[in-house]
Amino acid sequence: MMKLKKGFIQVYTGNGKGKTTAAAGLAIRAAGANLKVFFCQFLKKGNFQISEEKILKRIKNIKFIRFNQEAPFFNKNLNSEKLKEKVNKDISKVFKIISSKKFDVVILDEFTYLLNLKLVDKNSIIKNLLKKPEFVEIIITGRDADRDLIKIADLVSVIKNKKHYFNKKIFARKGIEY
Ligand code: ATP
Ligand code: MG
Repeated sequence: MMKLKKGFIQVYTGNGKGKTTAAAGLAIRAAGANLKVFFCQFLKKGNFQISEEKILKRIKNIKFIRFNQEAPFFNKNLNSEKLKEKVNKDISKVFKIISSKKFDVVILDEFTYLLNLKLVDKNSIIKNLLKKPEFVEIIITGRDADRDLIKIADLVSVIKNKKHYFNKKIFARKGIEY
């Protein structure tokens, strides 16, 4: 069994393309090194599936979970109390999984929005992150990472958008954007 000697907290943020892709790449690398990976995705719902989900689910050392929380970005009529309840339930599951020490690398994809949208209590999230087992690596992705999250992280990469074909009306393409 492979274990990390020490695990860190990483944050991939910024408005450019590549955060989730980088996290998926790291999941594959870690699994290739026989580490156990827990990859979970927040605020994505229903039949919207990123294509890497299919592949990541086939890798023995990776457990992939999409929490099926409906993102409030597109549907303003969402009952946010209901969403909050669901998110908090899911988050407490995640922290249980982290402290169970069953996984070496835990990826929290699109996690920054839970803090930004105030769906979770920031202080308790920060406290829980700091309590993680010594050898567990945590990777958080999402735009506009909260300043307190940045403070407690050991590594922060900001992917900056310099140019994007989106502005030429080239919208999300299967296999490239999802
Ligand atoms: P990817 O999943 O491609 O690595 P990401 O995780 O960095 O992107 P998100 O902020 O999660 O980016 O964006 C979700 C979707 O929007 C993805 O399909 C992504 O490719 C696309 N996207 C990322 N950055 C931009 C941008 N600056 N303008 C338009 N679309 C973007
Ligand atoms: Mg992303």
